[in-house]
Amino acid sequence: MEKHLLLSFDDFEFIVITCSHCHSKIQLALKSELYRPAGAPFAPTHCSICGAHIDLSLELLERFHSICQALAKLKEKVTLQVRAVD
Ligand SMILES: [Zn+2]
Repeated sequence: MEKHLLLSFDDFEFIVITCSHCHSKIQLALKSELYRPAGAPFAPTHCSICGAHIDLSLELLERFHSICQALAKLKEKVTLQVRAVD
């Protein structure tokens, strides 16, 4: 029997992006502004480890962050169902 997890957007804590240059994993906190300087955008333009340009759609990351923040307020009213890995 396949198992599923039911996740609220409030459960999401980080988006993890991978630098295509040095392959470092960069965590972007969805809930906390503590990890960013005041006024800084959610999505970084450069890798914090090697300084390479982040070649992802930063606009999409910014929009996803905004959507997650809005949907997190709805708690269990809007959820994602994902397949659980054994
Ligand atoms: Zn890098």
